[in-house]
Amino acid sequence: MRLPRFEYLSPKTLEEATALLGTYGNQAKILAGGTDLLVDLKKRSSIQGSRRWGKKERGPCYVIGLKGVTGLTRLKYSPGETLSVGPITSYADVADSTIVKESYPLLWQACRTFSRPQIRSAGTLVGNLCNGSPSADIVPPLIALGAKARVISARAEREVPVEEFCSAPFTTVLKEDELVAELKIPQPAEPYGWSYQRTTKRTAEDEALVVVAVLLEFADRDKTVRRARIALGSVAPRPSRALESESMTQGKKLDEALIQKISETVAAETSPRSRSDYRRLMTSYLVRKALTEALGN
Ligand SMILES: Cc1cc2nc3c(=O)[nH]c(=O)nc-3n(C[C@H](O)[C@H](O)[C@H](O)COP(=O)(O)OP(=O)(O)OC[C@H]3O[C@@H](n4cnc5c(N)ncnc54)[C@H](O)[C@@H]3O)c2cc1C
Repeated sequence: MRLPRFEYLSPKTLEEATALLGTYGNQAKILAGGTDLLVDLKKRSSIQGSRRWGKKERGPCYVIGLKGVTGLTRLKYSPGETLSVGPITSYADVADSTIVKESYPLLWQACRTFSRPQIRSAGTLVGNLCNGSPSADIVPPLIALGAKARVISARAEREVPVEEFCSAPFTTVLKEDELVAELKIPQPAEPYGWSYQRTTKRTAEDEALVVVAVLLEFADRDKTVRRARIALGSVAPRPSRALESESMTQGKKLDEALIQKISETVAAETSPRSRSDYRRLMTSYLVRKALTEALGN
């Protein structure tokens, strides 16, 4: 498969990048690590066409690479407040960070375990989000952590909670002239517990069948749950929270019976597009495992 023809643009600042998006609109695409975009462009140029661009529809004529903008791989930590993740911060950058390991273990664990080393070196967290895949591995942990995306254009700037970012499969709330400049992740309030679980179709490197990310913030050392976030991936048209299951934990100490009840409830909060019975079963199983693990983490 060959790449179709396009013009590569290399802005030196984010302002230049947004100006280019403003000029070219849907004829342009941002390039971060390229592990989704380049594959998709190749598919589009193949005889099968692509799920993203119909055969008659034109793909982008301009690809705007962000690698020429300095400082975008940054991880900036404000202790007790937020972690800022840049638009071309890779999974490997996150997995190599001691600060993330100590202060955001849920994100650290997710970034070091999924897919294969080549993808973790090239792929970015922001690219994973902007691609809009229902099975994106990093979006559920970002949702569980209450992350927000800072979205900019030449006209304006806004913040979008990650849980509202994807609107349908491979569709996001980004407008044609907007890009994600940063992910802002609030630091969980101590004491808290966490867990990241995923299962795939066959090998660990395959696309996720079910992703579960759990963050439990406790009111006290007795582990009464003050706030829970249970985020699911690959079991609905977009990554989402299991709100009913979360509400069952409110003000409670989780014991085996309650965890069992929640794991039964959570299956009904999914709407898988395929292999429905299996995905529901695995969601139940992984949520039970995640809640149990979060009590110990
Ligand atoms: C072999 C292989 C295995 C993979 N395994 C997994 C896996 O196990 N789990 C998983 O979740 N994914 C997997 N992926 C998909 C991919 O690697 C990830 O989604 C990755 O995080 C995408 O990041 P990227 O930087 O490469 O994005 P890119 O390909 O550069 O971009 C992806 C999309 O986001 C847009 N975009 C990127 N940055 C911005 C921005 N700042 N603002 C606006 N739009 C932007 C691009 O225009 C494009 O539409 C795999 C891919 C391959 C090829």
